[in-house]
Amino acid sequence: MSTRIDKVILGEGVQKYSSTKSILLRLKDIPVRKERDGSPEEVPDVSDEMKMDMGKDTVHLVSYQGEFLKPCPGTREYICCGYQILNVGTNCPLDCSYCILQAYFNRPNLRVHVNLEEELSQVFQTIDSEPDTIFRVGTGEFTDSLALDPVTRWSEIILPGFSKRKNAVLELKTKTANTRGLLESGYRDRIIVSWSLNSPFISRREEHRAASLTRRLECARECQSAGFTIGFHFDPLILHRDWMDEYKRTVDLMDKQIEPEGIIWISLGSFRFMPVLKPIIRRRHPETSVLDGEFVLGLDGKMRYFKPIRMELYSFLRELLNQWYPDLGVYLCMESDEVWQESMGWTPETSEGLCNYLDERVRKFFG
Ligand code: SF4
Repeated sequence: MSTRIDKVILGEGVQKYSSTKSILLRLKDIPVRKERDGSPEEVPDVSDEMKMDMGKDTVHLVSYQGEFLKPCPGTREYICCGYQILNVGTNCPLDCSYCILQAYFNRPNLRVHVNLEEELSQVFQTIDSEPDTIFRVGTGEFTDSLALDPVTRWSEIILPGFSKRKNAVLELKTKTANTRGLLESGYRDRIIVSWSLNSPFISRREEHRAASLTRRLECARECQSAGFTIGFHFDPLILHRDWMDEYKRTVDLMDKQIEPEGIIWISLGSFRFMPVLKPIIRRRHPETSVLDGEFVLGLDGKMRYFKPIRMELYSFLRELLNQWYPDLGVYLCMESDEVWQESMGWTPETSEGLCNYLDERVRKFFG
């Protein structure tokens, strides 16, 4: 397991939840504190040290009071995919240098929403109330979907409800090899297991605590052989020396392990970040090369590569993937109509168009 948990904090009122009990059993050798013990984690103005490590070794069990199912924030200025986020927890035990979660300093620790099981019926009520809508739902936006699975067993809790619904799919997005819970479960229908990939250079240098690329692809192969539909995400694509050769190496590795016809989709997104993240990356990852390129402020307030550079990145990857297999459901994450047309050779024109394209992929794979 890629986690090094050395502390558990119990939030207010969490003892009554069955998830709390089972998580504490699985972490029975780890010291437990209650939130109101005056532990430094509870001081809102977190210390510099805490800002540096973000509490990545501390599991904090909380009862989440917000909406569990929410549309991905996306942006009106670019074409978005209409994804829904199931908010199982926040922060992540891995430590990618480019991770946007580093900007969430006021919320350190690996926060696990232990009332998830009790709130799921509300989530499914929402899904069932719109039988003609396809809900593409993922847990991997505010954390890695599987990094904490050996402790939280999110897969055990969530899979059954999604697997039996006809208007939803659940995507578990990860950079880990924590697939045991999934493989041991009997659920396959309407479940997508996907891996975030990058070039071997970026994976090695920037994706700290993540499984190696080879290991990720071995796990993807295992899941595919065990009957899961799989997906991939090249996000963020990052400019670096020999990037073309490097990304080609990744696609070659995919070719060795994966049956391409079992891939529901592959997203491409270039590195983008809110300006506030830059000094944080510099401080937490002084060795990083992700900030080496030149960036411009996008319409959504995020810094991105210049448009021609983004187009070059996407066109290159699209062509490479297309040569491997022409029907991989490749799509762009948060890009404009113009960039789509230039780099993909077609455009969904609007967010609705992209939703329809991805819904069609869902129908093709799951009926
Ligand atoms: S795996 Fe994702 S959520 Fe976790 S540190 Fe890396 S980018 Fe952030």
